[in-house]
Amino acid sequence: MRKEPVKVKEINIEERTKSFKEVVLGYTEEEAILEAKRCLQCKNPTCILGCPVGIDIKKFINQIAQKDYEGAYCTIREKNNFPSICGRVCPAEYQCRKACVLTKRGSIFASFEAINIHFLERFVGDWGMININSKSEALNPKVKGIKNLNLKFRDKRVAVVGSGPAGLCCAGELARRGIAVDIYESLHKPGGVLRYGIPNFRLPQEILDSEINYLRELGVEIMTNFVIGKLKTVDELFKEGYSAIFLGLGAGIPTFLGIKGENLCNIYSANEFLTRVNLMFAYKFPDYHTPLNIGERIIVIGGGNTAMDAARSALRLQVMNRIKPDVTILYRRTESEMPARRLEIAHAQEEGVKFKFLVQPQEFVSDKQGFLKGLVCLECKLGEPDDSGRPKSIPVPGSDFLLETDLVIVAVGLRANQLLTRVTPELKVDKYGDIIVNPETMETSLKNVFAGGDIVGGEGTVIEAMGMAKKASASIINLLFP
Ligand SMILES: Cc1cc2nc3c(=O)[nH]c(=O)nc-3n(C[C@H](O)[C@H](O)[C@H](O)COP(=O)(O)OP(=O)(O)OC[C@H]3O[C@@H](n4cnc5c(N)ncnc54)[C@H](O)[C@@H]3O)c2cc1C
Ligand code: SF4
Repeated sequence: MRKEPVKVKEINIEERTKSFKEVVLGYTEEEAILEAKRCLQCKNPTCILGCPVGIDIKKFINQIAQKDYEGAYCTIREKNNFPSICGRVCPAEYQCRKACVLTKRGSIFASFEAINIHFLERFVGDWGMININSKSEALNPKVKGIKNLNLKFRDKRVAVVGSGPAGLCCAGELARRGIAVDIYESLHKPGGVLRYGIPNFRLPQEILDSEINYLRELGVEIMTNFVIGKLKTVDELFKEGYSAIFLGLGAGIPTFLGIKGENLCNIYSANEFLTRVNLMFAYKFPDYHTPLNIGERIIVIGGGNTAMDAARSALRLQVMNRIKPDVTILYRRTESEMPARRLEIAHAQEEGVKFKFLVQPQEFVSDKQGFLKGLVCLECKLGEPDDSGRPKSIPVPGSDFLLETDLVIVAVGLRANQLLTRVTPELKVDKYGDIIVNPETMETSLKNVFAGGDIVGGEGTVIEAMGMAKKASASIINLLFP
């Protein structure tokens, strides 16, 4: 049996930074079969426990090895509505791959040898996107649980607020069972972070469009530019005849550092920066009228996926604007503690993003016109583990130094979007503004109102958001058809 993992093809490093084209090209059929055949088909497949939605990974990998792609697709779709998306963005090295028996004991993330489950999932998802449509899938006896697309349920209507992975997944689960679903989305395009946050070079928008079209084919209506809490309240939705409501509001409000000078010109939150680039196509300026002042020396503060996406987007914008690339990520711990996906850290490094570890920003410095010209930082050292289990970052007094910069992107976390919860006082929230739910049913303090995704428990992952949405949709189905 082959020991070495099959390497996934990527566009070469020089080409990458000249555009927003997808970097990872995925497996060919031959490569997928080779990688699938590496799977040991363990008696007790621990990988399944590592997947937040419990995909039967062993089964779908075996189906690929047998060239039964339709079977593999149906196996995945029983648990995961969006394999092409998860196969691209899932932090598999902390989830299913970490639980693969080929990962060395005690590793903090998956070993290199672990089966590339996410690339195999992507292969199957992309195959399905070309070969299977919603109607054939709904009637396919191989897909358990969704074959009973039953149009008599059409008199039951559910409103979904928010069209991120949580909202889309909940809508899909309900629509596949014949329930009428309307999604309300405040932005002008659906997708949530998948649309406005994650750049094309990781998740092409066509993939997202294809998954959303699939939902539309199932009869899901999507109302964009529609802010629930402003244009309609939760009460009004019920009065209009919805039997249940799912809230997938996300965590769309950026956190700032709270240090001096943070309101100077040319300091962006990563959310604003990425929204301008991804949702409003700033990289296609002047075809799209979205100005974005791109600096010559750019600093990105943070160590998560958002920081990597912002840094890699900023570097591409410099190259596309013929500016010598100069992007540095500042992180207060070391590389091992960075929460970003390992693949994205490696890609950022390969593309020329510089990293400065054990650094804490102290104060932004301006020129006479109020534009940013530098950032004073302190060096840090690692201390004892904190509540998150990671070693604390401890600033060293007197170690301050100045970094010259003319553009800073702050990517240090996101908080709950409280627009709706503030005008719905009966909806109980915790001290962070996250909605409190019964974790078994995902029901909120308001009868027949359910919630899931980042608005419950804070920033998570796409597949965790979908896992919660699946739980909520199961509760909604129980409620409508006891
Ligand atoms: C830049 C970035 C990169 C990331 N990369 C990854 C990654 O690689 N892998 C991964 O697994 N996770 C990643 N994440 C995290 C992941 O995207 C989130 O966990 C996930 O999107 C949460 O899904 P959600 O549906 O709860 O919320 P969101 O995706 O935030 O969607 C919420 C939607 O609700 C809408 N909305 C909010 N309030 C209202 C209202 N009152 N009325 C109508 N609409 C409303 C918002 O406009 C938004 O479209 C990333 C996050 C960011 C920001
Ligand atoms: S959805 Fe994510 S965690 Fe689950 S098998 Fe796919 S890559 Fe792994």
